[in-house]
Amino acid sequence: MRLSQYFLPTLKETPAEAEIVSHRLMLRAGMIRQSSAGIYSWLPLGFRVLKNIERIVREEQNAIGCQEVLMPTIQPADLWRQSGRYDDYGPEMLRIRDRRDRDMLYGPTNEEQITEIFAASARSYRDLPKLLYHIQWKFRDEIRPRFGVMRGREFLMKDAYSFDLDAAAARHSYNKMFVSYLRTFERMGLTAIPMAADTGPIGGDLSHEFLILADTGESEIACHRDFLDKRWANRDIDFDTDLQPIVDEFTRQYAATDEKRDPAKEQALGDQLVTARGIEVGHIFYFGTKYSEKLGAIVADRDGKEVTVEMGSYGIGVSRLVGAIIEASHDNAGIVWPEAVAPFHVGLINLKAGDTATTSASDDLYAKLAAAGVAVLYDDREERAGQKFAEMDLIGLPWQLIVGPRGLEKGVVELKNRASGAREDVSVDSALARLVG
Ligand code: ATP
Ligand code: MG
Repeated sequence: MRLSQYFLPTLKETPAEAEIVSHRLMLRAGMIRQSSAGIYSWLPLGFRVLKNIERIVREEQNAIGCQEVLMPTIQPADLWRQSGRYDDYGPEMLRIRDRRDRDMLYGPTNEEQITEIFAASARSYRDLPKLLYHIQWKFRDEIRPRFGVMRGREFLMKDAYSFDLDAAAARHSYNKMFVSYLRTFERMGLTAIPMAADTGPIGGDLSHEFLILADTGESEIACHRDFLDKRWANRDIDFDTDLQPIVDEFTRQYAATDEKRDPAKEQALGDQLVTARGIEVGHIFYFGTKYSEKLGAIVADRDGKEVTVEMGSYGIGVSRLVGAIIEASHDNAGIVWPEAVAPFHVGLINLKAGDTATTSASDDLYAKLAAAGVAVLYDDREERAGQKFAEMDLIGLPWQLIVGPRGLEKGVVELKNRASGAREDVSVDSALARLVG
């Protein structure tokens, strides 16, 4: 993509309304634009990151046999009357009336909807287990939308639902998601800490929140040091046999947030204790038969006896993650994208767009990188070098490839790593080899 043609409305000034760094940087980097309180449009750069996060989430859900569906944003109120949540949910729910005076709502979550879909066709134990998910916009009329996309009113969530014959099988589904979440967040360059959590209005008896560490997090975390060192993405995990030990490895260690912290346990940990702030990026629940009972998700077991299906639900805040990743990864100059979610892999800078030799060398690099399938944002504009550097640092692409007349005379271009700041003069060929490899 040529920057001269790209829609990237960056801001030089720091927007006054943004309280935290990710919100400021997302506005300055032209990633989003506010439509009304807690509701945003995603501009091209932000949209690419959102899609990258969504792709990782999707790949990891598919990898554990969770099947993708797409449910509507607008749901009939009657479904929620059946579960009893229509009145319970309160003012966070956006209630709508259609032209025939039927009560509708903009879904804040989808337990009722998915249970109705499953119940309509499930007949016997042979229909189980099932794991279904979708990635869909939600609306919650948050009392205090703030921090940009981190606490929006309209936001993108991955929500998955499990259906099992008994509690042991449901626990297995829960464990699958638990381990899958560890991998999902690690692939995004994040350290996520699972915390035993209250089950809240969804109800039930087993729940974990996944928090990532960032100074501006809404929660105060205290946990055993071990949590920070565990790595999962490259482990070969057999999802049929290895799960419970992995989950136990986590849950036996101390980890707590806010009012659930235990001063005695923390003192006992001594220098093994880590305290930090955290952002909730995922939340998983096992809630048994709460919805299946009300919505009639009942199947026959092997003996023909009727059983109410055991369920769980598993959320990831896809749009919140865009802000959360920035909170966890930025410096004074701007965003520092982890490779896996970066909107482009390389920012190619032509330092002298008026100069024929520099421009033809830059054009040539751009063509070769693009042909090799590398995502490149090519700054081909006639702007001051200082401005180009500042904008490239602001938008935080992992690599910058800088082409200038002086370097070209010596047969070199400059390769800069955004995260480390390390710069190197390299030949055009080795720059290509490094970026394509
Ligand atoms: P919170 O305590 O932050 O309000 P929650 O417990 O209400 O979150 P869930 O219902 O578990 O959230 O939703 C699943 C995930 O969706 C959360 O872990 C979070 O990442 C994301 N999420 C929830 N509310 C919002 C919001 N208002 N804006 C953006 N993402 C959100
Ligand atoms: Mg909430």
